[in-house]
Amino acid sequence: MIIDRMQVRLTRWPLKMTRKHGVGDVADTLPGVVVSLHTKDGLTGWGEAAPWSVFSGTAEATVAALDVYLRPLVIGRDARQFARILAEADRTIVGHPEAKMALDMALHDLVGKALGVSVAELIGGVFRESIPLSVSIANPDFDADLDFARARLAEGIRLFKVKTGFSTHAEDMSRLDRLAAVLPADASLRIDYNQGLAAVDAIRTLRDVEAFRPAFIEQPVARDRRDAMAEITRAIDTPILADESVFSPEEAVECVRARFADAVSIKLMKAGSFARGKAIAAIAQAAGMPCYGGTMYEAGIALTAGIHFAASTPAMTLGAEYYTSAFVLGTEILANPVRLEAGASWLPAGPGLGITVDETALKSATVEAQG
Ligand SMILES: [Mg+2]
Repeated sequence: MIIDRMQVRLTRWPLKMTRKHGVGDVADTLPGVVVSLHTKDGLTGWGEAAPWSVFSGTAEATVAALDVYLRPLVIGRDARQFARILAEADRTIVGHPEAKMALDMALHDLVGKALGVSVAELIGGVFRESIPLSVSIANPDFDADLDFARARLAEGIRLFKVKTGFSTHAEDMSRLDRLAAVLPADASLRIDYNQGLAAVDAIRTLRDVEAFRPAFIEQPVARDRRDAMAEITRAIDTPILADESVFSPEEAVECVRARFADAVSIKLMKAGSFARGKAIAAIAQAAGMPCYGGTMYEAGIALTAGIHFAASTPAMTLGAEYYTSAFVLGTEILANPVRLEAGASWLPAGPGLGITVDETALKSATVEAQG
């Protein structure tokens, strides 16, 4: 499994929808990064980074991290040394979790293919074959979103996450009201503020939205306002989910110590490797905090990696949002797209990530390639 070539591609994914989150509103296109590792005996391992400038970092910096700093750590190396290579990556470059995650994904895809086992089997064993799918309601055209919600309900989807805090509280209440009227009794409503509330007034605002009995309220205030997160967690009956406040296992430990949330959103792009994602899940589980599978604007490679992660991680009990390639991106780079069925995303069969990349589609989304 000796790696003799690494390709890094900067991509631009076209978008089918406009998204509003308070910060980082997106329309038209978003940048992404795809990496492939090639062995002498003809195997290819795929990885993807989905940096989002307002959340984690930039695609351009991710390309530089992979191309300039991480490339020397993998060329000529055996892919089975992934744990050592990732430890070296942490010593070589600070931060850049998306770049490290893309590399880890590609290494695991290679090793899985070489050994004839899936990534889920490689990183913990298959605990579940499917993960209940949560879709986000973030279109500024709320009528379009109600149609979107009705269509997803008809497909069996039951988890709906409303993005709030980017407009007035009155408008949020009206959107929640209109969506709640559409949802059947077996649906689960979740609310995500994406850090949108001012700490000074957050508790009063959240007491109002509790009337909709959401399953959880995600990241009401800014990432670093852990004091306010802790106060909110104590004051509000609805479970509070930490997203931006918990990137790493170290932050998960702080979350448990300060009890600044009741549950944790794990995104591979925040964690920086499967192992670090697993560490966050273990810390959360030991503290009695359930986990949710979040995403950035991910195409099929990263989403499939998320499915392998959630499928092999018992603590991921709150569902996951592995749908962007189907509903948000205007291009599909997998010949076997993520399977969404019966309100869930499904673990693909086959070794490694179990994906076949459509290299023509990938090429047409590629802006520049290195290596
Ligand atoms: Mg979030």
